[in-house]
Amino acid sequence: MTETLAPTDAGLARAAALLAEGELVAFPTETVYGLGGDARSDMAVARIFEAKGRPRFNPLIVHLPDLEAARSVGVFDDLAERVASAFWPGPLTLVVPLRPSARLSPLVTADLPSVAIRVPEHPVAQRLLRAFGGPVAAPSANPSGKISPTRADHVLSGLDGKIAAVVDGGACAVGLESTILGLVGEPAILRPGGIPAEALEACLGRPLPSGGDSAKPTAPGQLLSHYAPAAPVRLNADKPEPGEFWLGFGPEAAGADLNLSETGDLVEAAANLFHFLRQADASATGPIAVSPILEKGLGRAINDRLRRAAAPRG
Ligand code: AMP
Ligand code: MG
Repeated sequence: MTETLAPTDAGLARAAALLAEGELVAFPTETVYGLGGDARSDMAVARIFEAKGRPRFNPLIVHLPDLEAARSVGVFDDLAERVASAFWPGPLTLVVPLRPSARLSPLVTADLPSVAIRVPEHPVAQRLLRAFGGPVAAPSANPSGKISPTRADHVLSGLDGKIAAVVDGGACAVGLESTILGLVGEPAILRPGGIPAEALEACLGRPLPSGGDSAKPTAPGQLLSHYAPAAPVRLNADKPEPGEFWLGFGPEAAGADLNLSETGDLVEAAANLFHFLRQADASATGPIAVSPILEKGLGRAINDRLRRAAAPRG
């Protein structure tokens, strides 16, 4: 059962302790309720995708209490420093180069070399982030495809029993999601939201393209270039051919070179996915053969990612 926690010191200490254990905690921000998990924990981030029922591993926004903490996760150039100083804390997410020493789970960034960071202004979010003391990955706290929650009872109506707790901080003020400003390459609005584009343009002293090729908000995951193994990838392989590296799944794959989850646990498989693809690519001397994975729950997101890895590339 999902605990409802009051936004008191005791409630927030409990929420922070749950996050530290790799559990999921929904919390209010000034935009919508976020579904938080430790951004450094592969299992916690895999659980976010599972709880939401997301069909693909699109990258998540990392929440931190201030710009100083944000600098330890992302690389901020002059432009990024300028907008961050002007609009944080607030409903603005910045996509900046990932700092490798941040040690985020690759599931948070979809294994991209960039990271989306936001510093929320909501006092309850601020206190929770400070109590936890680490980066919190948090998409909106609703099942995939449903509308974003602006109250704790909205969160519960979609996710009760699927997450450890929700911190009840009342109704969110904005109700719109954060504006996402991409600052890797040419600055561009990747998603419109709580901060108007005009305000960002005035701050940066330049027009910002939006709605262009790099900025279709409907299907961002498709527009990002993902890490793809150099080795060819063969899917639905019950067993490997001679010379293949076997990336297995489940008890049927005894003897695999690597097994995404020996017990056939999809959360564990999701948590291991990006790490094992890289390891397989580094050790394979031929193609990578991947065991079949059930097209159910998190299996859909895993298969989506594997199909991309197996797609012919030009
Ligand atoms: P949400 O699911 O509400 O957390 O939204 C996350 C949004 O941020 C999606 O539109 C993502 O595509 C975008 N996003 C997150 N990380 C990145 C990144 N590294 N590069 C580009 N867009 C990102
Ligand atoms: Mg959402």
